[in-house]
Amino acid sequence: DDLVGMDNLVANTAYLRAQQIDRTELRKQRLTMTLPKPRRCSAQQAAVGQKYESLCEQQPIGKKLFQQFLLASKPQYAAATMFLEELNKWSFAEDQTREKLQQHILTEFCQPASKCFISYLRGEAAEILHHLSNKNFDEEQMDKIREATKDFLKGKPFLEYLQSSFFYRFLQWKEFEKQKITDKYFYEFRTLGRGGFGEVCAVQVKHTGQMYACKKLNKRRLKKKGGERLALLEKQILEKINSLFIINLAYAYDNQTHLCLVMDLMNGGDLKFHIYNLGKRGIRMDRVIYYTAQITTGILHLHSMNIVYRDMKPENVLLDGKGQCRLSDLGLAVELPMDEKLTKAGTTGYMAPEILRQDIYEMVAARLPFKDFREKVQNDEVTRRTLEDKSEYFKRTSIVCVFNIRGEDPRKQAFFQSINLHRLEAGLVEPPWVPKSNVVYAKDTNEFKDVSEEVDIQLNHKDENFFQEFSTGAVSIQWQKEMIESGVFDELNSHQMNGQSCEPRWK
Ligand code: ADP
Ligand code: MG
Ligand code: MG
Repeated sequence: DDLVGMDNLVANTAYLRAQQIDRTELRKQRLTMTLPKPRRCSAQQAAVGQKYESLCEQQPIGKKLFQQFLLASKPQYAAATMFLEELNKWSFAEDQTREKLQQHILTEFCQPASKCFISYLRGEAAEILHHLSNKNFDEEQMDKIREATKDFLKGKPFLEYLQSSFFYRFLQWKEFEKQKITDKYFYEFRTLGRGGFGEVCAVQVKHTGQMYACKKLNKRRLKKKGGERLALLEKQILEKINSLFIINLAYAYDNQTHLCLVMDLMNGGDLKFHIYNLGKRGIRMDRVIYYTAQITTGILHLHSMNIVYRDMKPENVLLDGKGQCRLSDLGLAVELPMDEKLTKAGTTGYMAPEILRQDIYEMVAARLPFKDFREKVQNDEVTRRTLEDKSEYFKRTSIVCVFNIRGEDPRKQAFFQSINLHRLEAGLVEPPWVPKSNVVYAKDTNEFKDVSEEVDIQLNHKDENFFQEFSTGAVSIQWQKEMIESGVFDELNSHQMNGQSCEPRWK
């Protein structure tokens, strides 16, 4: 028993230490790294497409390089991008900061005499700008000016960018992004949880130090249980989503034995663990409100993409190191065909208010409405209680019974009135509770031991083809974020500046 405890301690220490990695050490190791030359430029160019939104707004490296291009080319282009930055800050700011930013925007960008005057506006937008003052400076007016600015950038500036050395640099990064991913790309740390097809463990990207969680799906077990299609579906849905309230996928790859989904590391643990395994059972009300607001925002984001999440329960809500939560486990999610648009009414149907209410209940009461914690009851007994004891449940949930969702945005409920949703959506509301950085919020490693092996299953050519379809490597948006946040983006760009030129080759 002591030895088992020792194993766990060693695993925890290594895992916690990895999270406090010394980044200057990594920097030294990277000194010799350079960006690849884009192969077959025209093919690459066609592959990245020419969509402004994807190239200049959604992909983080694309956005950075487009901004760098704008700042370096013409004063009007520079003014436009700086103006958008400031407007964005203003939109999410509160109180005094907001007032200061408003004044700053008025004097720096809106006066014909100032250096950064946004003189490219035409028509209605120019008219609004002309009459803009402290009195009528509001979201509606600024939205119009923001849109007009984007329309301006989508035109000539965008076309010039596509011909510039900055875009050539972007293609180099896209080439780098396509690298093959294997086990060697990561260090592996302790197991954090167990799923139906294998374990979830912590991993770290060797050259950036970025921590992730790796969900491993045993290939033979997938085949045996007919789970292959579902695994691919989970991967395809995950890679489409880019939300602060849903687990993001960073890499999908495979090795001899497993398919691997590399996702955001949620080192704060799952809500089930928080409700039942940490001292006093249940969660404080301010936390319940905060988590429910984030979960609801995540669900609405999925609905806006026509995706239905069907696995709502505390163990699938995970906390990150800052104390923000995300929905995980999209294995049961389905994407509806676009022509079956989720209408407002349809959304209500899928919102399943009783499930949300049940979750809130469990967070507060640390038990299910119709089943006590650790109570052993048959399923049909739970069903009976659910049907017959309903009034008892509603009496107990008097706080949350107000939670009646009828067509409108569920977050308009009085339940959420203490939260600024606009700021919450941008991840700017401080969490009411922050995990300790020296605690591992997971059960001991020995509780996840799995010895079973599917020896009777043989994998064939068809399986291999399927595994290849799954193993697409880095997911653009997440990978680019990792490059920027780890400093690799700035580093490699400056290596490039000192070394070879970066002239467009396809001209
Ligand atoms: P399954 O689909 O088989 O249920 P899950 O995706 O729910 O698998 O993962 C199983 C468990 O692993 C979760 O309940 C959670 O405790 C842990 N886990 C999953 N994803 C992460 C993550 N991104 N970060 C930390 N722990 C995770
Ligand atoms: Mg699960
Ligand atoms: Mg699942």
